[in-house]
Amino acid sequence: MRLADVGRRVLSNFSLLFLLIVGLAAVAMTAASAAPLEMTSYKMAGDAVRMRVVMNFDREPEPKWLLLRGPHRLVIDLPGAKFSIDTKDLKAHGLIKSVRYGQVGEGVSRVVLTTKGPFTVEKLDILKNEDAPGYRVVADIIAASERQFEEALAVQAQTTASTATPKTDRLEENHPQKRFTVVIDPGHGGIDGGAEGLNGTIEKSITLAFALELKAKLAEIGSYDVYMTRDKDEFLRLDDRVRIARQHEADLFISIHADTIRLKGIRGATVYTVSEKASDAEAQALADRENLSDKLAGIEIEDENHEVADILIDLIRRETHGFSMKFAQSVVGELSNSVGLINNPHRFAGFRVLKAPDVPSVLIELGYLSNPEDEEQLRDPDWRGKAADSISKAVAGFAASKTAVGG
Ligand SMILES: [Zn+2]
Repeated sequence: MRLADVGRRVLSNFSLLFLLIVGLAAVAMTAASAAPLEMTSYKMAGDAVRMRVVMNFDREPEPKWLLLRGPHRLVIDLPGAKFSIDTKDLKAHGLIKSVRYGQVGEGVSRVVLTTKGPFTVEKLDILKNEDAPGYRVVADIIAASERQFEEALAVQAQTTASTATPKTDRLEENHPQKRFTVVIDPGHGGIDGGAEGLNGTIEKSITLAFALELKAKLAEIGSYDVYMTRDKDEFLRLDDRVRIARQHEADLFISIHADTIRLKGIRGATVYTVSEKASDAEAQALADRENLSDKLAGIEIEDENHEVADILIDLIRRETHGFSMKFAQSVVGELSNSVGLINNPHRFAGFRVLKAPDVPSVLIELGYLSNPEDEEQLRDPDWRGKAADSISKAVAGFAASKTAVGG
């Protein structure tokens, strides 16, 4: 045997060994991919405005998602997944009305989230777990308008089901055809009467009467679309009030109240904007009381799942907050020409109803039902007309300045 032949034989033995190894590896990989993908947990947290859904998997999933209407749904298809999840975690709440899951065909499993109304998918990410094995799918869903939902459907029709968030589905887009939109929120309602005056005036009736007058004043100007969160005596959750504002793509959200305070001598209007830290003890106490509205109606404020609740911490965008502050100051300015104000009339506290991430929002306490003069004024249509006039002037100024900068 020549040296060259020996070399060739050694080489071919090596190739055989190599082929064997490759073959074994392929067999092993086929076996691994034949084992179904496993969803090991499903969690969701949020409210009627925004929800985060987190699904954990034993390995990297390849989800495809799409929107469906009638009713509004988010469908997430997962090739070949089996579900090892705790069905307790599927209990619907917030924006999500129901969660269903199961196999829809050979090797395809599906999760269907039905929502309370139109929404958009802000993002849907596939992430590798840092401190545990496996992967997770994180979906952020936010209440939106019917128009925005339709727009997302149209994008989907062009791109088919996608694993990525469609780029054109951005809420910040400009809509030149859309008029400046105001959503007025008469505080309380239904089972939640709100505060009660010395002479028996119920806050929920005053807020509704005032909101209707403000709506009429704004309609007179003729340049805005004006909606109310409620136009009759009905109970609404705080997060549903915010969801309604988002559904109308509100440029401004005005919540109307007339509460009581321990000190009967205190009177006058106050304008509040949201803040994690209250401006003073009274503002804090007031926000605490207002935030109890849902509890009054027997709705448990869910103890959010810590794993997923981080989205709820601080969603208020700095720009939105700046606009809220600016509008609050202009309401204070206009009201000071027509009705009495409290000392330091612009205050702030952590009102849940003011927590829309992208809608400038204020809460106006028209006066105190615990003060006899204020109570009388609040019942007086002339006084209410004057106050509504001032607020509508502030709205007009705000709308003009926003339109001028093209916002
Ligand atoms: Zn109130």
